[in-house]
Amino acid sequence: MLAGWLRVCALIVVGLFSAQALGENKPQTVIVIGGGLAGLTAAYELQSKGWQVTLLEARPSLGGRSGLATSEWIGGSKVQPVLNGYVDTFKLATQPAPEFVRNPSYLIDGEYFTAADLATKQPATADALKRYEKTLDDLARSITDPENPAANSTLFALDQINVSSWLDKLQLPPTARQLINQKIRTRYDEPSRLSLLYFAQQNRVYQDINDRDLRAARLLGGSPVLAQAFVKQIKTIKTDSPVSAISQDKDGVTVKVGAVGYQASYVVVAVPLRALGKIQFTPALDNKQLAAIKSTNYGWRDQLLLKFKTPVWDSKARMSGEIYSNTGLGMLWIEPALKGGANVVINLSGDNARLLQAFGDKQMVDQVLIRLHAFYPQARGAYTGYEIRRYSVDPSYGGAYLAYGPGQISKFWKVWEKPQQRVAFAGEHTDTLYPGTLEGALRSGQRAAGQVMDLAAGKSFEPVKVAPPVVAPVKAAESKPGFFSKWFGGEEKPAAKPVEPAAAPAPAPAPAPVAAPAPVPAPAPAVAPAPVKAEPVKKTEPAKKAAPVKKTEPKKTEVKKPVAKKPVEPKKKAEEKKPAQAQ
Ligand SMILES: Cc1cc2nc3c(=O)[nH]c(=O)nc-3n(C[C@H](O)[C@H](O)[C@H](O)COP(=O)(O)OP(=O)(O)OC[C@H]3O[C@@H](n4cnc5c(N)ncnc54)[C@H](O)[C@@H]3O)c2cc1C
Repeated sequence: MLAGWLRVCALIVVGLFSAQALGENKPQTVIVIGGGLAGLTAAYELQSKGWQVTLLEARPSLGGRSGLATSEWIGGSKVQPVLNGYVDTFKLATQPAPEFVRNPSYLIDGEYFTAADLATKQPATADALKRYEKTLDDLARSITDPENPAANSTLFALDQINVSSWLDKLQLPPTARQLINQKIRTRYDEPSRLSLLYFAQQNRVYQDINDRDLRAARLLGGSPVLAQAFVKQIKTIKTDSPVSAISQDKDGVTVKVGAVGYQASYVVVAVPLRALGKIQFTPALDNKQLAAIKSTNYGWRDQLLLKFKTPVWDSKARMSGEIYSNTGLGMLWIEPALKGGANVVINLSGDNARLLQAFGDKQMVDQVLIRLHAFYPQARGAYTGYEIRRYSVDPSYGGAYLAYGPGQISKFWKVWEKPQQRVAFAGEHTDTLYPGTLEGALRSGQRAAGQVMDLAAGKSFEPVKVAPPVVAPVKAAESKPGFFSKWFGGEEKPAAKPVEPAAAPAPAPAPAPVAAPAPVPAPAPAVAPAPVKAEPVKKTEPAKKAAPVKKTEPKKTEVKKPVAKKPVEPKKKAEEKKPAQAQ
């Protein structure tokens, strides 16, 4: 009898130990929300460390805001080390960049100018461009640490100024100003909506990098190829799965897609801010995060790929590479040899994109064709079709990429860098050095994956301490007497008291994901719409091929009780530098 009992007890003990051993071997679980490059990176990194990952993507396809054309220009490993690392890991094909991508050229009143042409034919414009670049270079150099751009009260004050006011003080001739405006709005946003500190910080990040490193190679197939390389590796992906709620407690996280709940130990949220605002959090996000979701400015940029049988511009001049127009064509990117025929990617950005949100795709293309045809009379005859990407009117993106408005670095710097208990944040908008780029998205995915692993290992993340502006001498101002007072007036010595953010001009209103309103008179739009019959704005992107849904099913639970909380209301040295934003 006793022997029998002992045998039963022994079996129970062995059973308990084996169950514990099994539990210890069980992989950690994580849900990644958003299948853009940030989410894909986080999912890939965690899976490769043995985590059981479920990636949930709202759309039918993966890759998020990846490029339109097939010729993405990427920087070298000094500028984009993470991107280049994955290009090597996945053995993606690249081609060295040809010379024509190194220097931008200009289309002034329909006439094509290389930088050299401009110096001889329009010396006043060329000189003004140089003067602007030199002043910007000095301004960027005043930032000693781009990770802490508002390091002193003088720099902090730059965040309260918009780029347009700063340009006004340069008193540039009209053509130079138009070209500069066009460059800035293509890479960031309308100068009037952009914080001067952000502009200076971004130029500081890319300041001492030479042109060869900035545009080192072409990634064949563009960023979609990189996205697909990640997709192939990730075991569990659910497309058509828009997440509506995330609730967490001390034991784990439940993520809701429709009526279905997914459970895991941790979550990485890699969606743009406007999409984040539509996800209900329990417990709720803090006030600073909510304010950042509501008001962080996004640059607006739409892209059209116009296809022609032949290069219609050849009769006048051979156009190639990145071209800035002063007459409503935005930034053009000519890609003669790609996708057959002769193609041009036209980037309409800033307030030009805002103005055109009222137009349907075809009407927008017509507006551009009318202008192109005026300079290149064969344009209409040779035109064969278009592709379009409209990030500006997409409610999940709220624009093309983060572009801090006046006062916003002071308020929202590093707000997304800290996990909220079991939730880590990723996405280009969460990267401090390379926002608005592939590098920024990839870096943020790696950072979030690392944070989730740290959390699992028991690390706690202290609240982010926003460094108050400290009273410290500005090095560049010391070395260049008169610089700050010349452009901004007042003393160059650090102010005794930090400048209060309350002095900030009203930030640019966040682009609301609304149905297209009637066109509004935008400030001096470069694209004045020609009258065409309005058609409703299509809110969907052109259909992309859906990535196959992977076999492994994540742990599903029917969510019985809806969460009681109220949903959160969506409420570059001399030359201005940044890796090519052609795609
Ligand atoms: C016009 C344009 C040109 C550019 N050119 C360049 C360039 O030349 N070089 C460069 O380096 N960078 C460029 N970029 C920037 C680069 O493309 C982006 O920084 C990067 O793709 C952003 O990746 P992400 O993962 O942060 O966000 P996204 O790509 O936006 O991914 C977020 C994903 O989350 C999904 N999602 C949203 N809400 C939910 C939800 N509730 N549930 C589930 N999923 C959800 C979205 O559908 C999306 O797939 C360009 C961007 C644009 C718009």
